[in-house]
Amino acid sequence: MLVNEVMDCEPIAFDNNTPLEVAVQAMIRASSSCIIVTENGTPCGIITERDITQVFASLVSQPARIDQKPPQHKLQDVMTAEPVCIQSDLPFTDALTLSRSRRLRHLPVVDGHGKLIGIVSQTHLLDAYAQVLNEQSRLEDSIEELKLLSLEDPLMKIGNRRAMEVDLDYTEAEATRHNKTYSVGLFDIDFFKKFNDAYGHQAGDEALKKVASAIKQAIRLSDRVFRYGGEEILVLMPETNAAEALICSERVRAATEGLSIPHSESPFGHITISGGVCSEAHGEWRKMVEVADRALYEAKNSGRNSIVQSDG
Ligand code: GH3
Ligand code: MG
Ligand code: MG
Repeated sequence: MLVNEVMDCEPIAFDNNTPLEVAVQAMIRASSSCIIVTENGTPCGIITERDITQVFASLVSQPARIDQKPPQHKLQDVMTAEPVCIQSDLPFTDALTLSRSRRLRHLPVVDGHGKLIGIVSQTHLLDAYAQVLNEQSRLEDSIEELKLLSLEDPLMKIGNRRAMEVDLDYTEAEATRHNKTYSVGLFDIDFFKKFNDAYGHQAGDEALKKVASAIKQAIRLSDRVFRYGGEEILVLMPETNAAEALICSERVRAATEGLSIPHSESPFGHITISGGVCSEAHGEWRKMVEVADRALYEAKNSGRNSIVQSDG
């Protein structure tokens, strides 16, 4: 099932110069919880009930004098800019994955030219998903779908491979459309086989959990971390150039080392991680991951516990 089968084809949309009051009246009439703000038909912002509540809160906290007119807000003053938009031919489960991973309640739907053609809410997507499950007669099918929809790696509590692919597809499309640079860091724990051999698989699992948690804390809120496979972790850094990506990757390396998990079989005496980083303007993520992987290989060959940045 695709997004165009579940989307609302008549979203409430207004031009960015529209007074807030006009848009709020329309929201009330339609019992809608959000408005899309457009510029020449292309979504440039989104306003939710929360944004309006904030405007109201600021008005209440600064009461106007009797002789003063209340401030006239335009939509562009209140909106959250650059909303995450999706295409109508996206599988709806991918849209649901994206809305959950980015914590977005509403996703504007655009055509091939970026023009607004609909809106889909997380509730709609979940309803559609529940419907799909109900219609499925075989339990095995539902379990497979559920596995696909699960976003988190159960051991490391970070994004799994599927979440990674959806997020990278989206980041690549956004970077291409807006000519933005993004970065990918691929990390691999050093001498981890020896760690398992020395301390046991259970201790290995515990170490993986600690490393993943330390990395989550070391990266910025806008960066995302995924289990690439085994003891390999991928950090996606949207809108991040090479210099910033190197700093972030170095923080990941230092955070892992900072855990000081003893590793008697490593020359460092504790668990360390190596990383390869690739940054490109509107790059193809699959190629960028390959480049990052080669940089990681160099980091391994040059002594481990280090970061190598590809020069493109
Ligand atoms: P290098 O420094 O070159 O990366 O050496 P390495 O030993 O880390 O690399 P190698 O690829 O030889 O071994 C990876 C090890 O990671 C082997 C595998 O058992 C372990 N591993 C992968 N996934 C898990 C997991 O979920 N739990 C545990 N405990 N170990 C895992
Ligand atoms: Mg490995
Ligand atoms: Mg390794």
